[in-house]
Amino acid sequence: MSASVSVLASGSRGNCALVQTSTTRILVDAGISCRETFRRMKALGEDPRHLSAIVITHEHSDHIHGLAVLAKKLKVPVFMTGATHQTWARAMRDENGVRPTMDRLEVFSAGKSFQVGDIAVTPFTIPHDAADPVGFTFRAEGVKIGIATDLGYIPASVRDHLRHCEVLMMESNHDLEMLRVGPYPWSVKQRVMSRVGHLSNDALAQFFTSDYDGGAAYVVLAHLSEHNNHPELARKAAEKALGPRRTLLLNRVMLASQTEPMEPIRL
Ligand SMILES: [Zn+2]
Ligand SMILES: [Zn+2]
Repeated sequence: MSASVSVLASGSRGNCALVQTSTTRILVDAGISCRETFRRMKALGEDPRHLSAIVITHEHSDHIHGLAVLAKKLKVPVFMTGATHQTWARAMRDENGVRPTMDRLEVFSAGKSFQVGDIAVTPFTIPHDAADPVGFTFRAEGVKIGIATDLGYIPASVRDHLRHCEVLMMESNHDLEMLRVGPYPWSVKQRVMSRVGHLSNDALAQFFTSDYDGGAAYVVLAHLSEHNNHPELARKAAEKALGPRRTLLLNRVMLASQTEPMEPIRL
């Protein structure tokens, strides 16, 4: 086996993915409980004790809910930006105002690559209403994997980072019409639709039509809203936009789920 990607959970109730080679295993976000992370990893035949590191995109609870317990149990390095760590620590203060310690914290900056085992990790800034949110690309074994969820739109800098990926995991958060007529209060709808909110099926389709290089073997649709989207709407919008570029070897569309791990992608 060379590299593989497994999505353990994706959506507003928790995000967690696993990017690995034969020697290195990186958990991307820790948005489900430690117990559930372990359960889902074991269901995929993975041993949580073999994790090499945890990397964090931003401090919203659907990305860090299980982090404190996971970090304590596994004692692995946790990579975050300084601003994300500070915001996380502030929010986690106990009743005496004492901030939690992160024993093996590794601070990174957006735009500066770092190495975990044989995987080169490049964090890049994304437009989202968090302290210092990032997406990631991972390079190992001659392949590149891109993950960009939780972004209000796709700026040129993000498009550049996502070129030449074999796996492209992208947010397809909501159907605009379902969001518009759906149950959320107007203020929340405005937040989701804003330039620092979440990416709609249409916005992602627009990226596929006009800015995407077309070269990914797998396109994973992620962070789907359970209230304002339907998996088949997201899939249809993406497949239509990818059009004839979907072949046997290119642009297989997969859907990441909130409730169960996605079938692992092996490259
Ligand atoms: Zn977020
Ligand atoms: Zn999120």
